[in-house]
Amino acid sequence: MSSYTLTQSIPLNETYDVIVAGGGPAGCTAAMAAAREGAKTLLLEGTGALGGMGTLGLVPAWCPFSDLEKMIYRGLAEKVFTRARETVMHEPKNKMDWVAIDPEHLKRVYDDMVTSFGATVLFHSSVCTVDAAGGAVKTVVVSNKSGLTAYRAKVFIDCTGDADIAAWAGAEFHQGDEKGETMPATHCFILSNVDDYAYRHGENLYAGNKNSPVYKIVTSGKYPRIKDTHMCNNIIGPGTVGLNAGHIWDVDSTDPASLSKALMEGRKIAADIRDALAEYHPAFRNSFLASTGSLLGIRESRRIVGDYNLTLEDYLARKSFDDEICRNSYFIDIHTAKNEIEKTKTENVVEHRFERYKKGESHGIPYRCLLPKSITNVIVAGRSISCDRIVQGSVRVMPVCLAMGEAAGIAAAFASKTDGDVHHIDVKKLRARLIAEGGYLP
Ligand SMILES: Cc1cc2nc3c(=O)[nH]c(=O)nc-3n(C[C@H](O)[C@H](O)[C@H](O)COP(=O)(O)OP(=O)(O)OC[C@H]3O[C@@H](n4cnc5c(N)ncnc54)[C@H](O)[C@@H]3O)c2cc1C
Repeated sequence: MSSYTLTQSIPLNETYDVIVAGGGPAGCTAAMAAAREGAKTLLLEGTGALGGMGTLGLVPAWCPFSDLEKMIYRGLAEKVFTRARETVMHEPKNKMDWVAIDPEHLKRVYDDMVTSFGATVLFHSSVCTVDAAGGAVKTVVVSNKSGLTAYRAKVFIDCTGDADIAAWAGAEFHQGDEKGETMPATHCFILSNVDDYAYRHGENLYAGNKNSPVYKIVTSGKYPRIKDTHMCNNIIGPGTVGLNAGHIWDVDSTDPASLSKALMEGRKIAADIRDALAEYHPAFRNSFLASTGSLLGIRESRRIVGDYNLTLEDYLARKSFDDEICRNSYFIDIHTAKNEIEKTKTENVVEHRFERYKKGESHGIPYRCLLPKSITNVIVAGRSISCDRIVQGSVRVMPVCLAMGEAAGIAAAFASKTDGDVHHIDVKKLRARLIAEGGYLP
């Protein structure tokens, strides 16, 4: 592509102390926490709702909130979780792991919580570039129905899931493995008019069940788009099942052409899975494809190079850190690589890559993993933090993103009261604030 110089003067908004880009789980708690600390906070979201993958992406369940003994993602994470489950009445009240998500309710929970702390939200407002100099971001440029507007702030929290701000400001990052291959994407969807009785008492679709009809579906040859046995599913409402099923490989979420092609493929896969389930499982005989996500389910994108890189050795050692901002106990959940597709037709390869943590075990996530090395005033929270690729397979899930978002918000508010340098805040004070707000930092 050739280059083009835009000569245009655009409006400048200088109202905010902290600007959060991306309103997924990490961005929502970041905005709540920054506003709670008294920072004037703006949350910019490219779509029309908050919640990211858990709402617009239609991911149907929360990963575990417990370490198999007790809740470990606390503070704002626990508060979001408690409110989110209000409408999911079929789940037992004390269940902490794999609780289903009612995505419409969750959108309203985030709306209420983010605004109740005093943060301002702008929807359909994407950060499209940044103005960075001397290792700091001066402004982010936002594209929306007003055209382009520059927003200045002391500190920016990048919760775009792609580390857009950090990357555009020149921060170093990794993406995928040595060849750039990332985990496959999944376009989640909702089936309605499912027979509740047959669903509850019939074969579990999940690939962990050796008798799941998904094995027959993938070996039948009738549905070539359903390439492997990925078939996570949760009942999310009356006669309504959310599916995190099917895989799409070779998707680069930072490339609009790749993303667009994958969305179209994902919609076809969702329709094929509906048809296949109608054929192979009695609960789905009369099911209806009610919706596909408005966001494609991206598991892996850019990972920043931060002040600290959380390694596989750290994960396996259940390591603690002086500057840790939360604990994590989720297993290393790396989805089927292209060269494993055949293998999944007969066995569930994904779940057994590493031995899982035992009851009560967890590791810490250092604050330094959220800090892009060369940029003074940007914090990255969510699935793009600085870690080994394999570890990203664990720390990317929503309870962890909620917990790290809260820490990012408090840290950003602290830095906004000084010179904006997020690398030199008082981490002891940050941890004390997290604990005071109910965080779990043993
Ligand atoms: C298919 C799939 C299944 C999963 N299953 C589970 C599960 O069962 N349980 C679980 O807990 N986790 C699950 N996860 C993981 C989890 O959902 C995500 O990793 C998590 O939501 C990441 O949170 P985040 O806040 O970093 O980003 P996201 O949730 O991706 O949110 C990012 C937000 O930023 C917005 N945005 C992006 N770029 C810009 C920009 N430039 N300007 C403004 N806004 C922008 C997006 O619109 C989006 O709302 C799954 C993920 C996928 C993809």
